[in-house]
Formats: sequence, C-alpha cells, structure tokens
Amino acid sequence: MALKEYQRKRRFDVTPEPPPKVARVRKKKLSFVIQKHRASHLHYDFRLEWQGVLLSWAVPKGPSLDPSSKRLAMAVEDHPLEYAKFEGIIPAGEYGGGTVMVWDRGTYEPEEPDVGKSVRKGELKFTLHGEKLQGSWVLVRTRGESSRSWLLIKHRDEYASAKKDITVSQPRSVISKRLLAEIAFDAGGDVDKAASADPVEALQALIKNPRTRAPRKKAAVWHSNRAGS
Ligand code: MN
Repeated sequence: MALKEYQRKRRFDVTPEPPPKVARVRKKKLSFVIQKHRASHLHYDFRLEWQGVLLSWAVPKGPSLDPSSKRLAMAVEDHPLEYAKFEGIIPAGEYGGGTVMVWDRGTYEPEEPDVGKSVRKGELKFTLHGEKLQGSWVLVRTRGESSRSWLLIKHRDEYASAKKDITVSQPRSVISKRLLAEIAFDAGGDVDKAASADPVEALQALIKNPRTRAPRKKAAVWHSNRAGS
C-alpha cells in the first residue's frame, strides 16, 4: 500500500528500477482449540481463532468423526486468545467452575476467507489440522439468525469414521497427557466430579498401573476476573 505512488510513477517494463515486491506477508495460520470442560455439565468448548479472539461453541457430546452424527454446538461468548493454553481448574462457585483439559489443538483453514461473514451467514466450513481431529468439518446454525444453536458435523473424507468414538479412544490432554481426574488432582480440584467425565476404561487402567500417571504439572487455576472483566 505504502508503495502505491512509487509504483504509479514508474513503468517497470521500461525502467531498470526494482518493482515493489508483492507483499509476501506470510499469512499466520489460524489456531483452534477444543477444551474438555467438566463444569455443571460436561461439554467440549470448540474455539476458532478469528480477529484476535476465540469464537466459541459449547458441544455437550463433543465432536464425532461420524458424518451422520450431528453434534449440537451452542454458541457462547468469545474468549481471549490466551485462554487456548488454559488447562486446570476453575474454582467451584465461579462461572464455569470445574476442570478444563486441552483436548485438542492445532490450526484450521476456513473454506471462505472471511470467517466473520460465514458466521453471520450461519454456515462455516473449515479444515482442521489438529492432533486428534483432521479433515473437513462444518458448523451450521439451526433455527434462524438469532439462534445460538448450531450443529458441528464431520464431512465425508478419509478422516471420517463411523466406528470410533474419539472422545472415548483419545480421552487425554494433548498438552499434558493427563486425564481430567489427574488435572483436578494436581490443582486441588474436585477429583470425583472430574473423573465422572473420564472414560471408565482409562481410569481403570490408571488405577491398575499408577505408573502410567502423567507427570504432575504445576497447578493452574483460572481467575475469570484477572483481566478486570
Ligand atoms: Mn465451557
């Protein structure tokens, strides 16, 4: 932009002066995160980076790799980008009180470049490059423009599967390898409540062989009023 006048005054097919390079601003990849959150009810917070915030949906059953299994996704308030790294406990009695796990993370590519426009339209198609989730997905709003209710659906591709329930087969954190119960334990949270959202098989394996316990992490507690909100 700043070189417009320089460009306007010169004919680069005639002058040996250098033409302005096409601004090759390396487009930073957009990130996504899915946080498994055992609050009053278990849900998976599905968050997509857009314009400096995380657009957020709460998915009670979590994502499904089965294209015929449409998962309810309730639009919730945008979250700050830093929230993507949060894993730990929200104190009981606070908003969202309970245990939070970073269940998946990675980058995403929207099919249409203007994500805001797609959200307003009520249909957002994207490709996920996560540690657990891959391939093509869509979020589609149901019941009109003012509705907060959306569906998260896997498109048919090589990453789709009707057999595997990925929330059961891959229940651990992608950043600490911990189960929810372990995260709650480390942070002094409600272990029973957190464990109620871990798959039974994973908990039983842990009890049988406590050496499989993920290395203990420093306790993290989210203070929702930290930013003065
Ligand atoms: Mn939540």
